Amino acid sequence: MNVLVINCGSSSVKYQLFDMADESLLAKGIVEKIGEGVSIVKHAARGQEVRYEAAIANHEQAFDHIRKALMDPTTGVLRSADDLDAIGHRVVHGGEAFVQSTLIDDKVIATLEEYSALAPLHNPPNLVGIRCAAKAFPGKPHVGVFDTAFHQTMPKHAFVYALPYELYQRGRIRRYGFHGTSHRFVTMRAAEFLGIPLDRFNAITCHLGNGCSMAAVAGGRSVDTTMGLTPLEGLVMGTRSGDIDPAIVFHLARSNGWTLDAIDALLNKKSGLLGLSGLSNDCRTLVEAAPTNERAKLALDVFCYRIRKYIGAYLAALGRADAVIFTGGIGENSVPLRRQILEGLDALGIELDPAANEVRGREAIITRPSSRIRALVVPTNEELLIARDTLAIAGKQG
Ligand code: AMP
Repeated sequence: MNVLVINCGSSSVKYQLFDMADESLLAKGIVEKIGEGVSIVKHAARGQEVRYEAAIANHEQAFDHIRKALMDPTTGVLRSADDLDAIGHRVVHGGEAFVQSTLIDDKVIATLEEYSALAPLHNPPNLVGIRCAAKAFPGKPHVGVFDTAFHQTMPKHAFVYALPYELYQRGRIRRYGFHGTSHRFVTMRAAEFLGIPLDRFNAITCHLGNGCSMAAVAGGRSVDTTMGLTPLEGLVMGTRSGDIDPAIVFHLARSNGWTLDAIDALLNKKSGLLGLSGLSNDCRTLVEAAPTNERAKLALDVFCYRIRKYIGAYLAALGRADAVIFTGGIGENSVPLRRQILEGLDALGIELDPAANEVRGREAIITRPSSRIRALVVPTNEELLIARDTLAIAGKQG
């Protein structure tokens, strides 16, 4: 079974092709800057990488390039479309309708269109990807894998906001949470790694990348998460503020005359590590600058403090935790930030081992053997989990 995984954004399409017999990656690539005049296509397969520029006006044309790259007579990995068995799509917002991955049909598409209002930046391009892939690879099963689905097990007291209840009942305004595929992947991997049955595994998962979120996981199921109605809430991120007093919005609008669009851009694109430091949204740049740059240091201090605070909150929410898991570009690679987050938490049962923490991009336990709660690094692989779900659901069709 060959499964193609698609992650379609507003101006890019990322793809990975897996041979699910052994879960090996056959090809991966990206079409970037779609509709921006000169687009870039990168395709890697069989140990070779091809990169070229082309005028790609829309997503439909992007899929023509992907199809050709996958079936190229010399460098391709598929002889024909017959060699492709199913396609899995990353979909950001599945709302309350999708509690697990789902075979896509017209009814599913109609429901996702309804959720476009909740995720205007993400769901419309995801839907474009589904439509274009259906045209490029007709007659194949397409499966939707939702960023929100893993968090649909949250209890009501964790997902409702303390707003008039009608806003939830009629407007579906509630905490949904995102990065669910990543939180689920690292939860399963860590439980396996530690030899703890998933239904007894309690963990705090920290997905720290460009976007950052944490989840409290009880018995392998998400019971709380830091992102909310949108991916803006919770942790400090590259350019997103995370938690703030909502009254700041009114203050900016009333006292400073800011428009809603300007405040939206401020909180989503100009805040977080970038806004605090005035230097960069990349934690590597900030770690390098911090010894001589006060604002870079402050940005990292705020970033790490927020994560520590949520670790404490989630320990209390769970009552008992087996593990704290780090993943995402920062979680997997940043030795100094993991140290700053976990240092001094011995009394809570998390005893960081500074030597074991010197690990980048591979699975490892980073706490001392005596630590009651183990901290781990687990590289995430959302695409592989999308491919597994797609195989499981498409397999049932055939
Ligand atoms: P992601 O969104 O998961 O790709 O993560 C992107 C972020 O990970 C970047 O903003 C970097 O700050 C961080 N990152 C990636 N590689 C490293 C590294 N080797 N060391 C520290 N941070 C890294």
